[in-house]
Amino acid sequence: MTTSNGAIFFDGSKCTGCKGCQAGCKQWNMLPAPLDYGDAPFTGSWENPPANTGDVWLRVTFNELEPAAGSVGMALGRDACKHCGDAPCITVCPSGAMHRTNMGAVAIDADKCIGCEYCVAACPFHVPKLCVREHKSRKCSMCVDRIDAGRSPACVKSCPGRALQFGGRNEMVMLAQNRALAIRNQYPDVQVYGVNEMGGMGVIAVLPYGAKAHGLPLTPEPPLVTRLQGVLPVIGGVGALGAVGVVSLALLGGRGSQYGNEQYTYDPVTRITCDGGKPMDPDAPIVKVGLKDAVKDEVKSGEKKVESEVSKND
Ligand code: SF4
Ligand code: SF4
Ligand code: SF4
Repeated sequence: MTTSNGAIFFDGSKCTGCKGCQAGCKQWNMLPAPLDYGDAPFTGSWENPPANTGDVWLRVTFNELEPAAGSVGMALGRDACKHCGDAPCITVCPSGAMHRTNMGAVAIDADKCIGCEYCVAACPFHVPKLCVREHKSRKCSMCVDRIDAGRSPACVKSCPGRALQFGGRNEMVMLAQNRALAIRNQYPDVQVYGVNEMGGMGVIAVLPYGAKAHGLPLTPEPPLVTRLQGVLPVIGGVGALGAVGVVSLALLGGRGSQYGNEQYTYDPVTRITCDGGKPMDPDAPIVKVGLKDAVKDEVKSGEKKVESEVSKND
C-alpha cells in the first residue's frame, strides 16, 4: 500500500456547484469539448455531461435529496480519480502504464498504455475510460505536471470558493476532520471520505450528507475477479494473470463501467468521438474552434453599429 503524500481536499459543504473545477481541468489538460448544444443535450439534471469519458476527467456531481419534508437539497460531489493507496488499476495493468507518481498520485503513461481496459474494469469508481480516438485509457493524473512545477492541480486553482485545497495529505486529513466537526450540528450525517477507504486516498472529501447521498459506495472495493487477478501472479505466474484477465473482462462486459458510450466529445477535425468512436451528425458542417460564421456576422454588424453610434456622438 502506498498512500499519496499530497492530497486534494474537497469540502462538499462549501461547494456551490459552479463547475469552475470541471472547466479548469479541461482547459489545463487540453481536453476537447462539444462545440454545439446538440452534442451535449440537456439530460434533465444539472449534472453535465452525464458521465466521465476519455475527454472528461472531472465532473461535478449533483445528487438531489430531501433533507426535511418539503425541502430540497443537493449533495454535491466530484467524480474523478481518487488516487487510491491500494489501487487495483495499477495491480491489473499488464504494461506498467498505470503507475504511482513521486507525489503518490496514480497516473497513466500514455506511451505504455495498450488500451486493454483492464484498469477500466478494475476501478470501483468507474474512473478510467478508454479514449477510442487514441485507443488508450485516460483519467485524472492529479495534474502531475503542475505539481512537479510547484503548482496546485488545475481544479484546485480554479475553485473560487476554497471548496478545493491541495497540500500534504496529513494536513488535508486534519482540515477535513476539523471541518466535519465544525459542521456536525448542521449536517448530522457528515462523513469524511478517503482517509482509510481503498488503503487511503489522495482525495479527502467532506460529504455533508454522507457517502451514499453523494453517490459514493460506503465501502468501495474492486470486483472479485480483479482481486483474484491481483494474487494470481504470486501463485501462478503471469500466464495465469492473463487467463484470469480475459475471464474478468468477459464477466465484466469488457468495461466494468455502468455508463454507456455517450457521444458528446469529439475531435473537431476527424469528427471521431472519444468514447463512442462514432462520427457526430455526418451532415452537420464542420465547426472550427472559435466563433461560428453566423455569430461572427452578428458580432461584426454589432461592432459596426457601435462604431457608427460613437462617430455620431463624436
Ligand atoms: S479511483 Fe480508480 S483509477 Fe483512480 S486510483 Fe482508484 S482504482 Fe485507480
Ligand atoms: S487534478 Fe488535474 S486532472 Fe485531476 S481533476 Fe483536478 S484538474 Fe483534472
Ligand atoms: S470550482 Fe469549487 S465550488 Fe465550483 S464546483 Fe468545483 S469544487 Fe465546487
